Amino acid sequence: MIGLENIVKTFGDLTVLKGVTLAMKEGSVTALVGPSGGGKSTLLRCVNLLEIPASGELRIGDDRIEFQPNKRVPAADIQRIRRQTGMVFQNFQLFPHLTAVENVMEGPITVLKWPAARAREHAMALLEKVGMAHKADAWPATLSGGQQQRVAIARALAMSPKVLLCDEPTSALDPELAQEVVDVLSQLAREGTTMIIATHDLRLASTIAQEAVFLDGGVVVEKGPARQLFTNPDRDRTKRFIATLT
Ligand code: ATP
Ligand code: MG
Repeated sequence: MIGLENIVKTFGDLTVLKGVTLAMKEGSVTALVGPSGGGKSTLLRCVNLLEIPASGELRIGDDRIEFQPNKRVPAADIQRIRRQTGMVFQNFQLFPHLTAVENVMEGPITVLKWPAARAREHAMALLEKVGMAHKADAWPATLSGGQQQRVAIARALAMSPKVLLCDEPTSALDPELAQEVVDVLSQLAREGTTMIIATHDLRLASTIAQEAVFLDGGVVVEKGPARQLFTNPDRDRTKRFIATLT
């Protein structure tokens, strides 16, 4: 289980997450939707501790970590949590000086100290899974956006994370290339990969998410089964927002 308990995140005087509590079951896919600036990216970044919450508690599987104002989180705790998460960014963020397969090998080699041959074999299997094995030796700059994103997904999976965090994985892509990425994420969802996906893409969200969360102004306004939240939300605020999505 992935759990957030009363997570607060501030940037200076600005409180961006105002006490977010969420629980995600293993093997479930949660869509995180809401207006720009609502805190979706910040929330994902708090789950992998790219941002450290001011207060609250984070649970990933059996691992718990509590945040308190003015109390530094030990680097070892951050490392441990981060290793259990994989992150996919809007703009792919592949290492430009590494080939596709080397991008996927990087984590296992540097963090897990795997020998190169083992890391390569594992990376090739992941590239196969995302339909990119034929481009293993290509440089990121020579790949289409959809192809780069599929390599980025393989890279995020390389450390066998407990949860895959995707921040608008399709929003930099035109519809056809976005569909390639949706197909890969759908396949991962069917295989039981736990995912949290921040997205404005209603097609992506309704294709693969069972659960949905509507985050506005750093507050969870509504959460529930994705189908219900997207077609028949409870709150007026959610209704107005869903009507703006395509
Ligand atoms: P979008 O849909 O545009 O991606 P979002 O829901 O992902 O928006 P966030 O990026 O999480 O929103 O931003 C939430 C708020 O936090 C915004 O007001 C933003 O300006 C602020 N914010 C985010 N990161 C920082 C930072 N590093 N320093 C200061 N403020 C920040
Ligand atoms: Mg964002």
